[in-house]
Amino acid sequence: SQDARYSPLTAETLAAQLSQVAAVADRVGSDPDKWSVKEVGDGNLNLVFIVEGPKGSVIVKQALPYVRLVGDSWPLPLYRAFFEYHALIREADRDPGAVPEVFHFDEAQALIVMEFLSPHKILRRKLIDGEKVEGLGAFLGRFCARTAFRGSELSMKSADKKQDVALFAGNVAIPAITEALVFTDPYFNAQMNHHTAELDPVVAELRKNVKLKSRAQRMLMKFASNTETMVHGDLHSGSIMSTATESRVIDPEFVQYGPLGFDIGMLTANFLMAYLSQPAHRSAEALEDYQEWILSVIEETLATFDEEFLRLWKSERTGMLYPASLFEDQDQSSEETCAELLAGIWQDAVAFCGIEMHRRTLSLAHNADFETIENTAIRAPLEARNLALGTELILNTGAIRTPRALLEIARQFN
Ligand code: ADP
Ligand code: MG
Ligand code: MG
Ligand code: MG
Repeated sequence: SQDARYSPLTAETLAAQLSQVAAVADRVGSDPDKWSVKEVGDGNLNLVFIVEGPKGSVIVKQALPYVRLVGDSWPLPLYRAFFEYHALIREADRDPGAVPEVFHFDEAQALIVMEFLSPHKILRRKLIDGEKVEGLGAFLGRFCARTAFRGSELSMKSADKKQDVALFAGNVAIPAITEALVFTDPYFNAQMNHHTAELDPVVAELRKNVKLKSRAQRMLMKFASNTETMVHGDLHSGSIMSTATESRVIDPEFVQYGPLGFDIGMLTANFLMAYLSQPAHRSAEALEDYQEWILSVIEETLATFDEEFLRLWKSERTGMLYPASLFEDQDQSSEETCAELLAGIWQDAVAFCGIEMHRRTLSLAHNADFETIENTAIRAPLEARNLALGTELILNTGAIRTPRALLEIARQFN
């Protein structure tokens, strides 16, 4: 049920509505006549405004009561802004500097005022344009490890973590989108699906594969039932903004408690899709160098994830799980135990990765890496490789024990 005070802002009404909010006026300037407001939302769900004034700029993100991509025929609760706000606060705490600073939250208006990232650009756009980002893998690996570890009972007090699980369990409608669109819709002829026509035979074959579908449902069960840590929930290259040397994570409205390997798996999938789509975006001379750079980002992300997780394991294991007293007095057993835990996280990540690759080609929300390839005679074979690699990751998860093994297989499907 919507708060009576809610009304969607427009570029025309925003200044009058927000000029009284000190957190905004302090940063933009106190005279709303001198503000300039632009709606820049390019996502599937929300309004996003850049507000600029004599003192500076902020971003205003406001939820709409429906799915923007589809229209008001698909209602979506405004409370997701509440969860996005709470996720941003926790992410800032667990990995300082990784997300935009939040200046103001208005629950009734489903509105968050935050730091305007500039000259940052959406990473997916940079990957399509062939631009490199220094330190990207290290940043993302750290972000995933820190949020995974510090949001779990490896680190958190049990009472705090369980209270947080209860809080985020209220974010019902948004994970329901993931549950359907990511895990189920790709594998049958769901109403909102679409795919490139030339893929018809490949898609028919894929949907006949019972083992594949049941494996995806098994991962859905893990996604819906595990509360290992607070996941970002939508960590793709469209939720990362970068300059040539600096990156941030945005848009955690899909936050929920879920498996430790979820974010890192979804993220890896989005880099693999960038990799596989490159032949359509690069000249022959630039192709190999840029594709290898993307693979090196995946490798660095995953290596940093493991390193940072182990560092936190050794220095911040203050929660209920794997208490230090059980292991620390036995030579090597602590590191071995962490390695074993990481191996399990990795296996989940590989399977989530394959599923994300499928859904971005077959379900509702495709990604620009493939979608901007207008010539379907070029797009379809690249998408077919993407589907085949996804299938390989889902069915042969156990054979892909290391990031290096993953990269080797990715090269075979290129
Ligand atoms: P949605 O939930 O609708 O996907 P996002 O949070 O992803 O909305 O924002 C949509 C777009 O708005 C982003 O792709 C980006 O271009 C821009 N944007 C969002 N947050 C910021 C920010 N803090 N700084 C600069 N641009 C932003
Ligand atoms: Mg977004
Ligand atoms: Mg498509
Ligand atoms: Mg979003």
